[in-house]
Amino acid sequence: MSRKPIIAGNWKMNLLKSQAKDVFEGVKSFCDQYSAKELPTVVIAPTFTSLSVVDTVKCDCGCGGNKISIACQNCHWENSGAYTGEISVEMAKDAGCSYVIIGHSERRQYFSETDEMINKKAKAILAGGLIPIICCGETLEQRESGVTDSHISSQIKNALSGISSEDVAKSVIAYEPIWAIGTGKTCDSDEANRVIGMIRNTVKEVAGSSAADSIRILYGGSVKPNTIAEQMSKSDIDGALVGGASLKADSFNEIIANTMKVASGV
Ligand code: 13P
Repeated sequence: MSRKPIIAGNWKMNLLKSQAKDVFEGVKSFCDQYSAKELPTVVIAPTFTSLSVVDTVKCDCGCGGNKISIACQNCHWENSGAYTGEISVEMAKDAGCSYVIIGHSERRQYFSETDEMINKKAKAILAGGLIPIICCGETLEQRESGVTDSHISSQIKNALSGISSEDVAKSVIAYEPIWAIGTGKTCDSDEANRVIGMIRNTVKEVAGSSAADSIRILYGGSVKPNTIAEQMSKSDIDGALVGGASLKADSFNEIIANTMKVASGV
């Protein structure tokens, strides 16, 4: 089963509007040299305040859309109401998003997000016609005490609970070992591939083999232009969720270019 790779940039709480526009335009002009078929699925997740800025940088290649899909970094599961500081799925869609990152370890750690909240968000996002990028991953302590697999498979089972196989198949999962985020310590690519294979087996258990074959599972954690080729050469790694290296167009474009090289066998 060949799955289209995804290269997603998570800008986190970085870049003012003018900087966001510059980086987005830099990625767009790179992507405009290629057809949508040649490119991986390219996704950028700016801050809420820059969503409207990047949404105005439309594709002018005649494809009728944009070769760069926009994601937001979080959303609420309710449609509207008294939830100060939150945005709904409909608002994310209205701002041009087609993906929403949920369950990032920073949100779990600093904003006390639970598996139950992440499951509610995933359901709301899919019901609204958008695609959740569901993050999971273990701490260093969990890895050292040998509970990596059980922890991650429970995160995945909880996140996907009550979601139809068709919706699971459309979703995206990002495996981000917490100890590899922003540390420069990339997870060994064989080990990342093993964990991602284990996640795929968990998806098979809860949603069947067709969903497990279709769902795209990314690696995240200190992905750089010089790490991506090896990561993309692994059987179960379908792409990357990139933090720091997505903040500059040059490094993000190089990650996209190296992904295309692996896909085309160069
Ligand atoms: P870094 O690429 O900066 O390690 O961040 C990874 C990440 O958390 C993406 O969501």
